[in-house]
Amino acid sequence: MTARNLLLLPGDGIGPEAMAEVRKIIAYMNDEHGSGFVTDEGLVGGSAYDAHGVAISEGDMAKALAADAVLFGAVGGPKWDDVPYDVRPEAGLLRLRKDLELFANLRPAICYPALANASSLKPELVEGLDILIVRELTGGVYFGEPKTITDLGNGQKRAIDTQVYDTYEIERISAVAFELARTRGNRVCSMEKRNVMKSGVLWNQVVTATHKEKFADVQLDHMLADAGGMQLVRAPKQFDVIVTDNLFGDMLSDVAAMLTGSLGMLPSASLGAPDAKTGKRKALYEPVHGSAPDIAGRGIANPIAMIASFAMCLRYSFNMVTEADRLETAIANVLDKGIRTGDIMAEGARQVGTVEMGDAILEEFKALSA
Ligand code: NAD
Repeated sequence: MTARNLLLLPGDGIGPEAMAEVRKIIAYMNDEHGSGFVTDEGLVGGSAYDAHGVAISEGDMAKALAADAVLFGAVGGPKWDDVPYDVRPEAGLLRLRKDLELFANLRPAICYPALANASSLKPELVEGLDILIVRELTGGVYFGEPKTITDLGNGQKRAIDTQVYDTYEIERISAVAFELARTRGNRVCSMEKRNVMKSGVLWNQVVTATHKEKFADVQLDHMLADAGGMQLVRAPKQFDVIVTDNLFGDMLSDVAAMLTGSLGMLPSASLGAPDAKTGKRKALYEPVHGSAPDIAGRGIANPIAMIASFAMCLRYSFNMVTEADRLETAIANVLDKGIRTGDIMAEGARQVGTVEMGDAILEEFKALSA
């Protein structure tokens, strides 16, 4: 079997604690099921700065470029608050996103039945929720030029950000959304503001054309992004895949995330373009949460976001759909049994630490894989 090459970048704070739980799952899959994962490790963020004086070394960047997928923990912490801007911990993540050309950010919002009561919405609105937000990550108003603050000389200043999208950028992100929809509920809702923005008009046209040309079997709807925000909190279960630009995606994915409870539960993936020869996409998988310095080193961090990120990696980088389903079911079953880390603790549940939570999920995964 061809090797499945994974680069692990645990990072700082709770990153290494959460990554240790994924390492156990990888070891089990290799030992018992011959899954053929070949793992390498590197440093990113503050730990890379301490070792190399940069947020990620050239050697580790080369490993990331060569790997089939990168698993990223978290970076940052007060220790590195005053390091020079260009070598701050986050610069490691930004460099990875840029050099791997990761233009598609995938943020699932899944509400595990056992946690429906933890949502700020009524449990019946979110129980069983399973939506995927596909956000364009490398274009739009965060990167468009000009991007300036000008002194107008009359006591006023003028700030300009520029929203720019070219056809190819919209084509490739909508293709990702349609392809992923085919592996799920086969529905895509595209969100923009075509009523007030030219970029919204083009977005709408290109998504519609891409759909017609290559993905007519997928159901496509369009919604204005502000209405989409309302619908996300009114009736979130109406959505399957949502595709939207960088700015709207930033906000809408945070809204969707909070429908499901804790930061410690949320995985994400960032994908690049398929390689012309192999068809494989560069990919990085990471929990949405940061390095949580307030609880780092205490063995109490919730490893579920990291483990669920690995499940996304199985699904999207290695097409191991059965294994990904099993790992996600293992997480749901452990929650059903009332096993909880502190951040998702509920009355009557049993509170455990990071390692115990990881062990419980692994045992459940083993039982489901037997
Ligand atoms: P954070 O996500 O690290 O923590 C926010 C709160 O959620 C904290 O109270 C933390 O204890 C809790 N929390 C987060 N993940 C948890 C988990 N898995 N289990 C239990 N509780 C969890 O965000 P922050 O406090 O704003 O930032 C801390 C550091 O992380 C900063 O240096 C920030 O720059 C960095 N950060 C990094 C990333 C990343 O690596 N992608 C993302 C966000 C923040």
